[in-house]
Amino acid sequence: MATPSLVTLTEEQQMIVSEVRRFVEKEVLPVATEMEHADEYPVDLVEQMKALGMFGATIPQEYGGLDLPFATYAAIVEELSRGWMSLGGIINTHTMVSWMIKTYGSDEMKSRLLPTMATGERRAGLCMTEPNAGSDLQAINMTAVRDGDDYVLNGTKMFVTNGVHGKLFAVLTKTDPKAKPRYKGMSTFIVEKEPTPGMTVGRIIEKLGYKGVDTTELFFEDARVPAANLVGGEEGQGWYHIMSTIEIGRINVASRAVGVATAAFEDAIKYAKQRHAFGQPIANHQAIQIMLAEMATKIEAARLLTRAAAAKKDAGERTDLWGGMAKLFATETAQEVALQAMRIHGGYGYTTEMRVERYYRDTPFMLVGEGTNEIQKLVIARNLLKMYGD
Ligand SMILES: Cc1cc2nc3c(=O)[nH]c(=O)nc-3n(C[C@H](O)[C@H](O)[C@H](O)COP(=O)(O)OP(=O)(O)OC[C@H]3O[C@@H](n4cnc5c(N)ncnc54)[C@H](O)[C@@H]3O)c2cc1C
Repeated sequence: MATPSLVTLTEEQQMIVSEVRRFVEKEVLPVATEMEHADEYPVDLVEQMKALGMFGATIPQEYGGLDLPFATYAAIVEELSRGWMSLGGIINTHTMVSWMIKTYGSDEMKSRLLPTMATGERRAGLCMTEPNAGSDLQAINMTAVRDGDDYVLNGTKMFVTNGVHGKLFAVLTKTDPKAKPRYKGMSTFIVEKEPTPGMTVGRIIEKLGYKGVDTTELFFEDARVPAANLVGGEEGQGWYHIMSTIEIGRINVASRAVGVATAAFEDAIKYAKQRHAFGQPIANHQAIQIMLAEMATKIEAARLLTRAAAAKKDAGERTDLWGGMAKLFATETAQEVALQAMRIHGGYGYTTEMRVERYYRDTPFMLVGEGTNEIQKLVIARNLLKMYGD
C-alpha cells in the first residue's frame, strides 16, 4: 500500500515511486536488518540500484541519466530510506557531485565524467569536512597549489561518505589560504582515485548507526590533479559551488528523514493494532492514539516541506532557506518519531529483533549531516533577516 499523503504525484512520479517501493519491499526489507547489524556494504543492492538507473536519476539524458526533477529524486530517496536509510546515503553525495559537475563543469569534464557516474559504475563522494573544520568550513587547511598543468593537493579530509567504494571525489581546498574574506580563496577539484598517486584511504570510521555505508578519512599527500579538474575553471569559486550543491544534500537528508520516520510510524501503527494490553489492542488506548496522531501529522508536514523545497531547487532558485527548514524539521521529526515508535513497541522495541532500534540509531546522524541543525537555524535566521529588510 502506498503511504497516504497530501502530496500529489504526476503519473510518471507514481510509476517511479511504485517501482522503487517494489524494489524496497522485495529486495531491501528482507536483508536490511541483517546487513545493517553486520555493517556490510550492500553490494547486490547497489547493483540493483544501478540497474534501476538511480545513480543517474538527476543526470541529463545526453549523458545517460534519467534527468528527473529533484521533487522526484526526493520521493525516490524517501522510499529507499523507508527500507534502509543507508541506501539513501549512498546516492546522496554521488548525486550532489554529479549536479556540481553538470552545473559548473566544462563540456569536456561533463562528457568525461557524467556517463560513468550515470550508470553508477563510478560513484562519487564529497570532501568538505576536515579533522579540525566541520561547521566552520572556511577554516579548512587543505591546500591546492598550481604547478604547470596540474595542482598539487595536500591535506586530510574527514567523514567521507563513499570513501572506500567511491571512485571520484569533489574536494574543497584553499587555493589562496591568505584570502580575506576566507571563502574567496576556496576552490573545488574533482579528484579521480585512479590514477591519483598521493591520495589514500585512511581509517574507516565506526558509527552508532548509518551502517553498511563506508565513512572514511582521505589523505592527500602531494596528490597531483590536472588543472582541467578545477570545477568552473577558475580559482576562488569553490565556496559558491559547495553552498549551492549542499542544498541538494539537505533535500536528500530531509527525504531520508521522512522515509525513516514513515517506516517507524508504519511499524508502530501495525504493532499497536496487534499488541494487546488490558484486554484490548493498545491502539485503542488514547495515550497511544495521541502519539500516532502527533507522529503522522509531523511526518506529513515534513514531507510537504521537503517536496516544496525540492520543487524550488527544480525552479532554479536558491533553496538555503526552504531546504534548511525542510532539513531541520524533517530530521528533528524523524528523531522524535523513532523514539515514539520505540515506546509504542514497549520492551520489544529495545531489542535488536525489531526494526525500531535501527531507526533509533539511524536518526541522530541526520541532525548533524549536511550541516548541523544549529547551523540550519543560523542559515534560516540569516535569510529571514535579509528578507525582512530594515
Ligand atoms: C556519518 C557521517 C557522514 C558524513 N559524511 C560527510 C561527507 O560525505 N562529506 C563531508 O564533507 N562531511 C561529512 N560529514 C561531516 C559532517 O558534515 C560534519 O560532522 C558536520 O558538518 C558537523 O561538523 P563537525 O562534526 O566538525 O562539528 P563542529 O563543527 O565541531 O560542531 C560541534 C557542535 O558545535 C555546534 N556549532 C558549531 N558552530 C556553531 C555556531 N556558530 N553556532 C551554534 N552552534 C555551533 C554544532 O552545531 C555542533 O553541535 C559526515 C559526518 C558523519 C557523522
